[in-house]
Amino acid sequence: MTSEYAQEWIDRARLSIAQGALTNSKRAATFVEGVYPQHVLRGEGPYLWDVDEKKYVDFICGLGSNLFGYANPELALREIAPGFRCPSFSTPYEVVLAERLKAMFPFIDRLKFLKSGTEACNAAVRIARAWTGKELVLSEGYHGWGDDFTALDTPAAGVPKGVKAGIQMLGPSHAGTDFPNLTDKVAAVIVEPVMCDASPERRQWLERLRDKCKKVGALLIFDEVITGFRFPKFSVANYWGIRPDLICLGKAMGGGMAISAVGGGREVMDNPEYFVSSTFAGETLPIRVADKALRLLQENQEYSLTALWEAGQDWLDRFNRLWPEMLTIEAYPTRGAFKCISPEFKALFWQEACKAGILFGPSWFFNFALAKIDRAIQLQSLQEIMWKVKSGKAKLEGKLPVPPKSQMIRSQKPR
Ligand code: PMP
Repeated sequence: MTSEYAQEWIDRARLSIAQGALTNSKRAATFVEGVYPQHVLRGEGPYLWDVDEKKYVDFICGLGSNLFGYANPELALREIAPGFRCPSFSTPYEVVLAERLKAMFPFIDRLKFLKSGTEACNAAVRIARAWTGKELVLSEGYHGWGDDFTALDTPAAGVPKGVKAGIQMLGPSHAGTDFPNLTDKVAAVIVEPVMCDASPERRQWLERLRDKCKKVGALLIFDEVITGFRFPKFSVANYWGIRPDLICLGKAMGGGMAISAVGGGREVMDNPEYFVSSTFAGETLPIRVADKALRLLQENQEYSLTALWEAGQDWLDRFNRLWPEMLTIEAYPTRGAFKCISPEFKALFWQEACKAGILFGPSWFFNFALAKIDRAIQLQSLQEIMWKVKSGKAKLEGKLPVPPKSQMIRSQKPR
């Protein structure tokens, strides 16, 4: 239960941070409020410590931003960060990072760096509209809090009504070869190429989408803010050999720092007509840390995404064998979501796991630090937690979790 000290931070946050949290998915309501920690003080490897110094194994992984483990010494700033942060001119560091990304993604000729996934997705649709001269964008999945994407939500508070004319949901999803609203009026289609389903059917669906976009003259945008650097070969696009026109990257790419990117072909990206610009885009710290992080993925066997993929699959296989009829994680090996017989049962499981020092959330993530923990011991303790839940001994001590906005948007059906 929440200590007096932890409660003090919660109360202070309520009086100073708008809506109680900076990030929708970190709101108290997302978890079992009253049981979960709301503020953490430090992290190392796969672990987080809350303000009461209680230690947890973290399967939320900073909402996907933590791929390398917290406070990874390979990414220590002292060694890689230049002294200056945001100089008056561009730096060679950004060129080096862009060249590295080009080497990783054969369909990228040019990139812009930004700070958040939201910015990258906003930029991608702007660039696509500028290139095609068309306005309508079709969207599937979550792409941040930009006006376009928020216009698809109800109520789209604070978004001008006119914005809605420029965006629709791609639909219906997974419905054979026909993409009914993908016509020659469409500037771009933006999708999360994989949400939790990395099945051959999804791959074929993406291939059909690729073909249809080409046919109608729409650009295909892969929002790989989550999947980027969580698949072997660095992305879904590379893994499945599907070339989008534009790709959005973020989260894991920064090795924990705030950096995102939009990249694509030379003509589309170098079009002088569009405007995307930001004072902090070239901030040297995130650029240097991202460059080192990506170098680890390319060159260091300890950071092999293929090995991580195998370890994650092994973890999932073991987990999903524990209580297949009650609770599973629907996932690809580095990310997934809980599937459960009831919200109450899931909340109880999360609560008991949290009390035992294991943090789960709406998205389950796997990273290089978690891969190093002994899986047999961990799965054993999860099994014990489940026995307690199943036996009826556990009672909910906090509130039932409310799914975050990103998850609700992902499950929306086209209207
Ligand atoms: N796209 C996807 C697929 C995401 O998962 C997110 C964040 N959850 C975003 C875009 C937005 O990124 P950010 O929160 O960094 O703005």
